[in-house]
Amino acid sequence: MKTIAAELVYFLRGRARQNLKYLVYYCVFLVAVILIYAVLFRYLMWNLEGREFSLVAGIYWAITVMTTLGFGDITFHTDPGYIFAAIVTITGVVFLLIILPFGLISLFLGPWIEHRLRYRPTLELPDETSGHVLIFGLDAITRALILKLKNSRIPCVVVTPDMDEALRLEEEKEDGIRVVCGTPTDPRVLRSAKLEAARYVIANLSDPENVNLCLSVRSQCKTPIAATVSEAAHGELLRLAGANLAVPLHKILGHNLATRATTQGAMAHVLDSFGKLLIAEIPVHGTPFSGQTLAEAQVRQRTGLAVIGLWERGVFTTPTAETRLAGDSLAVLAGTREQLDALEELTGEQASDDLVFILGHGRVGCAAASFLDRKPVPFILVDREENPACDEHIPIYEDATGRHVLKKAGIENAKGLIVTTNDDSTNIFLTLASRHTQPHIRIVARANDDENVPQLYSAGADFVVSQASVGASILLNFIESKTSAFLTEGINVFRRTVPSKLAGQTIANSHIRPKTGCSIVALEPPQKGDPIVVPPPETVLGKDVGLILIGSPAQEEAFSRLFPENR
Ligand code: AMP
Ligand code: ZN
Repeated sequence: MKTIAAELVYFLRGRARQNLKYLVYYCVFLVAVILIYAVLFRYLMWNLEGREFSLVAGIYWAITVMTTLGFGDITFHTDPGYIFAAIVTITGVVFLLIILPFGLISLFLGPWIEHRLRYRPTLELPDETSGHVLIFGLDAITRALILKLKNSRIPCVVVTPDMDEALRLEEEKEDGIRVVCGTPTDPRVLRSAKLEAARYVIANLSDPENVNLCLSVRSQCKTPIAATVSEAAHGELLRLAGANLAVPLHKILGHNLATRATTQGAMAHVLDSFGKLLIAEIPVHGTPFSGQTLAEAQVRQRTGLAVIGLWERGVFTTPTAETRLAGDSLAVLAGTREQLDALEELTGEQASDDLVFILGHGRVGCAAASFLDRKPVPFILVDREENPACDEHIPIYEDATGRHVLKKAGIENAKGLIVTTNDDSTNIFLTLASRHTQPHIRIVARANDDENVPQLYSAGADFVVSQASVGASILLNFIESKTSAFLTEGINVFRRTVPSKLAGQTIANSHIRPKTGCSIVALEPPQKGDPIVVPPPETVLGKDVGLILIGSPAQEEAFSRLFPENR
């Protein structure tokens, strides 16, 4: 059934779709010819032979004569009648028996056979293939990863046992996806995918399949493996099976959501680290700087931390001294652990009236709840089903979209709301409904698919965490040996050493920002000292000093082009 459907899809795309339109026009033309012949037949029969036939009989006669079936049950008995029947037969042969089959073969059958022959799934990569990333399990996360790999010019190959998927991906070749068709754990398939020469393996199957894959890979070679895990507890098993990195994606998402949902008491959430330099986020609302400009807030003077970015409803901006720190925004900070501790001291205790609602107690919701539990921030969970993996939390068992469910649970007392079901339409609905009834609540939503991020923001979410983007970025960091940290789609924090042609110059004279658009977040001294966050323009760039920069992928590329890595 699936195969037939896949073949039918072929006829609904590209040139085949255009040809299908011509076929429909031709069929309309044939119906019109048959109707005209049927009317003429009735007219001639009545006027030449005095016999009366219905229109249905006329259509029946025209079809049997045009197709040369000619049962002979209805025939003319006069010369003009014979001439008319002969014309109908000849046009029938031309229209139905010559033009129609010819058109079907040349417009449909021929291109389809050609297409099938051209797109035979690849079973083996060329021998010279190397340095590629092998991806097992294609979903929103790995698709986002493929895009990022493409931007980083890292070749990637998807291994799939599904022939239809393989063919579809082969057709998408312009997207840079190469495919090998075969069972992921089959040693021959792994050899055909040139596993030994691969740069990395991304295992994104179910937990048991990932374990099997890791063991198969390890029986052949030492190619590093990054595996996604659904149940955080399975991470250990995956590492035992040979994975170098087990990414408990749902747990990370849960933590991401939880830190962003609290509105009181600053909880800095460390996004990434470069040695001693931490990149962290904090809701502005919980800090004494809320409503002040960056110059008034004096964050740097008071804590040593640098504000390198601001999130406001999904928009990331690099602030200037005049930028106002709005209460509903998130500040992205760079600094050391000690500097973050100093900030947390300034922001004071967790407010006692904070309450967070978590809609969805699956893997992500449960991780968010555990995170809040440790702070501690009080929360209420709502899920329509029991979570068999959790015996810690007691949720309200209701469908969160039900009328009055959230009201009865006391949502008007909540300061924050985490919307984390596994269905994006439900998430959009819950965000819209909650924003409508609780205009001031802080809503943090999970997007299972990247495409739904804008809808979630339109529905009123303050912050959306996309499962695909977060997962892809974590995996990319692993592949690129962590030379960059992810802030959002389109903004990277990345590390380089001071280019030799800039060594000895001041930051102002280096013209890094005007030439590349990148800003310097910090300098890392070569001896493991504390990083200097947002160094002043008169700072001299020493030799072998680490540079941590922030910029878009295009700006990062401009930097690499203008200042190639030191040899
Ligand atoms: P997970 O993907 O593991 O985080 O699971 C998502 C959770 O969302 C599951 O436990 C579902 O039962 C839950 N869920 C999905 N739709 C609804 C809904 N309409 N109301 C409450 N919970 C839901
Ligand atoms: Zn739980």
